[in-house]
This record gives sequence, structure tokens and C-alpha cells, in this order.
Amino acid sequence: MNLTAEMVKEKAISLGADAVGIGNIERWNDAPVQMDPKQIMPGAKSIIAMAFRIMRGSFRGIEEGTFFSNYSSMGYGGLTYLYIPMVVINLSKFIEDHGYETIPYGHQSDWRAIDNEGNIKNKYSRPVAPGKARPDVMVHLRIAAFLAGLGEIGYSKLVLTPQFGPRQRIGIIITEAVLEPDPVIKPGTLCDRCMACVKECPGKAINGKETVKVTLAGYTVEWGKLDCHACNIAFRGGKPVEPEQDDGTLSDYTEPIGGHKIKPGPFTPFYKKPHSLYVTGQAICGARCMRSCMVHLEKKGILKNKFHKPFRTKPAWSIDWTLPDT
Ligand code: SF4
Ligand code: SF4
Repeated sequence: MNLTAEMVKEKAISLGADAVGIGNIERWNDAPVQMDPKQIMPGAKSIIAMAFRIMRGSFRGIEEGTFFSNYSSMGYGGLTYLYIPMVVINLSKFIEDHGYETIPYGHQSDWRAIDNEGNIKNKYSRPVAPGKARPDVMVHLRIAAFLAGLGEIGYSKLVLTPQFGPRQRIGIIITEAVLEPDPVIKPGTLCDRCMACVKECPGKAINGKETVKVTLAGYTVEWGKLDCHACNIAFRGGKPVEPEQDDGTLSDYTEPIGGHKIKPGPFTPFYKKPHSLYVTGQAICGARCMRSCMVHLEKKGILKNKFHKPFRTKPAWSIDWTLPDT
């Protein structure tokens, strides 16, 4: 039996994906060489992108300030390193059983040859032949989601889907199977530039003015420039300490990052960052960019995944670290 897009989508949902979209390889024609899926699989014809929802309940304990590990594990590291691989591997088996070579593409970007800014890492790897990309090529999951018609890329640079807004992680499959593509979701369909993500990021990591613009499948896609260093610190619950503010009492919060000593910010109740869960789970900032966007889009009533009660019912908590611990 011929493999169809409908069969692949039905299988993906039955295996545990929450939404599925398919993009044809021609949409990647302008991809930079280090991000080009054809560099990995020259015969690739389709890229299937899947959304895996983060439970809204995984944010509840952070909203209350009493339980942080659930988002980091069940909504982040566990989804990324346990759940998504199982689904993409099993869906790849289904497609390969129909005779089409398929790559279950996980979250393995730690091996990529480029850094966060897209520059080639110094003395990291070399091409195996002239004209080839350096290993590892990184297929950008968020761009794949956009090109597969799964969602748009919001100002926060998070993928926003009609079902869950920003509340998901992405898994993809690269395959030689030719499958009917889905239409791309036009930028601006969901993100209205409310800037809640910019205002609520505790690290001020998302620039409200400077943007990054790329052309994808003929659309201009624009997001706020991300200060990865600032995100890196706030993500761990920290706030940089200026040399003149370092009173020596709190600066052992964790190892200095990028030369900065750091101390707990008002958005963390932890004296020190708890250890990582599932390798990357350590979002002590509580993914405020994601939560604020979710609150905003739910209030507008435009998301398909509906709840009986609003998520946010009171002002956000904050800790004054100069006061004594009660
Ligand atoms: S919070 Fe507002 S500006 Fe930011 S991504 Fe969501 S909708 Fe766009
Ligand atoms: S992950 Fe945290 S620190 Fe990074 S942009 Fe989002 S809210 Fe800001």
C-alpha cells in the first residue's frame, strides 16, 4: 500500500504526538549549508514535525512558587530525552516498513558544528570532502516546525501552534518518502507582538527592539534577538552580580558563567541551582517567556486546547533576597 500523509499523521498521533505537520524538502532550498537537511540525507523528500505538549499543570507549581522540578523534568528534559525519541523512533519504523529511509531526529544539537550565533565552532570538526557541511549539521527544529505548517515562530522565537500556543516541544523526522505537504501558517496568525515574553523574561534576554529576520518558504519571519548569555544566567535562576555589588555572601550561587559571578534573582526561591534533571532540565526561570505567552493567547481565546479555568489568577510572586529567610 502506498504511504500517504494521512497514514503518517494518524500513526504519529496514535504513537503519542499531539499535532503533526509535513513540509516538502523544496521549502529548505535556501537553508544555510550547516542547517540543510539535504546535507544529511541527500534523497530527503519530506520533513515531518510533531508537537509534544507540555502539560499546563507542569507550570502550576512554579506559578505557586512551591514545585519547580515538574516542568524541568516532565515538561522539558523528560519530554526531550525520553518521550519524543520513543515517538520519533517508532514513527520512523512505520515509515521504513513502507520502504522509505527515515531519520528519527532527536534533540542532539550539542554535537552541532555551529554555536548559538550560527558561527562555526573553532577547531571543532572538519568537512569530510570539499563542498560538504562540517559535522554535525543542525536541522533547526523550530524552523522545521514552521516549514511543516505546524506553527509559526513567535517574537519570543518559540514555536506557537494553534493548539497549544508556545506550550510544546518539537520532534522531527527526515524521510525519503514523498508526502502531501501542509500549508505554512502565515507569520502573525498567532503572535500579535504583545511583547509579554519580552517584559516577563527575568533575564531581559529577549530584545524588544533588535530583531532577527529570515526568509523561509517565501515568508519573512522575524523574532526578537536573544541574548543567550543573559538567558543562560536567568535560566539557572541567577542574576549577574556587578563587582561593586558583590558582598561575598551570595556569590557562591553556582559557578561563575561567562566571567560573571551570579546570585539568586527575585524569581527563584533556591539558594543554589538544583542539579539538572534529564541533562537539560534546569529552567529555574520557570520559562516565563512561555508562560506569559500562554496566558496572553489563552486570554484571547484563540488556542484550541481549552481549559475550564484561567491559568493565572494572582500576581506573580517575587523574593526579596535582602530580607531574612523565615
Ligand atoms: S508573548 Fe506576545 S509577542 Fe511574545 S511570542 Fe507570545 S504573542 Fe508573540
Ligand atoms: S528561558 Fe527564561 S531566561 Fe530564557 S528567554 Fe525564556 S524566560 Fe528568559
